[in-house]
Amino acid sequence: MATYPRLMPSDPRMFTAEVVRSTRLSPSFQRVTIASAELAGFDWRGLDHWFRLFFPLGDTTDLQLPDVSGRLWWKSYLAIPDDKRPHCSNYTVAGYRRFDDHAELDIDVVLHWNDGRLGGVAGWASSARPGSPVGILDQGVLFDPPAGTSSYLLVADESGLPAVRGILRDLPPDAVGTAIIEVPAPEDAAPVQAPPGVRVCVLARNDSTDCVGACALQALAELDAPRDDAYAFVVGESSLATRGRRALCRAGLAKDRITFSGFWKA
Ligand SMILES: Cc1cc2nc3c(=O)[nH]c(=O)nc-3n(C[C@H](O)[C@H](O)[C@H](O)COP(=O)(O)OP(=O)(O)OC[C@H]3O[C@@H](n4cnc5c(N)ncnc54)[C@H](O)[C@@H]3O)c2cc1C
Repeated sequence: MATYPRLMPSDPRMFTAEVVRSTRLSPSFQRVTIASAELAGFDWRGLDHWFRLFFPLGDTTDLQLPDVSGRLWWKSYLAIPDDKRPHCSNYTVAGYRRFDDHAELDIDVVLHWNDGRLGGVAGWASSARPGSPVGILDQGVLFDPPAGTSSYLLVADESGLPAVRGILRDLPPDAVGTAIIEVPAPEDAAPVQAPPGVRVCVLARNDSTDCVGACALQALAELDAPRDDAYAFVVGESSLATRGRRALCRAGLAKDRITFSGFWKA
């Protein structure tokens, strides 16, 4: 994954919280809402703010979290014995609400199936019970348009939809550009709010024949060449991110005007 450490907190904080509810949003998304008093201290910056999500595997409610020292936590994570080490994956803040004595945070999890079963975080999300413990480690935002950006080009598959939705929500009202969002089913992207000058193009994939990212890359190829002062944000399945970036570079956009990140690997 490409990283943009400028916007990452230099001293990221780990927060503990509990699941309060888990709701099916659409054919491919489950929303898990977590809450705690500690979360009220989370410095939510909107846009595509993301975090590392930790939860215990199996039936246990014993959550053993790594020690965090500055940006270091991985060694401590690996040092946790196998049977106690929590699952860890990256997620976007889909919603954040602060109340008097606590805060709630929404996580929109793509329901992906492996061998006919809900895999990884999707399995956890769909069966998460109120009270289940989680840890989240703040990682900041990736979206980083240079000053003077004239237009925005956002490209994502479903794993990047929460990020693109957050960016569209927080762009200035006079922003212009295009968002290309590829999803398994059209209902997955409804509704996407965007400034009136940003064209939102939702493409539903035919899962039996299309490779993830193929529709988004085709739509990207059909756009006019970006202006020199445009900024692009391309995230999702690894080859969507790398091929999208390559296509934009070929179309003349400077590399430092493109943020790209492989969110998962098919
Ligand atoms: C900055 C960032 C923000 C992200 N935000 C979100 C978010 O808000 N919502 C979200 O759902 N994902 C998000 N992702 C992607 C998520 O981290 C990955 O999908 C991750 O692999 C899920 O972990 P897992 O344990 O379920 O699967 P893994 O254990 O990583 O993988 C297990 C299997 O599942 C497959 N797989 C993983 N993800 C998907 C998928 N999306 N579709 C189909 N197959 C998949 C893998 O190919 C593998 O075969 C984000 C990633 C990054 C880097």
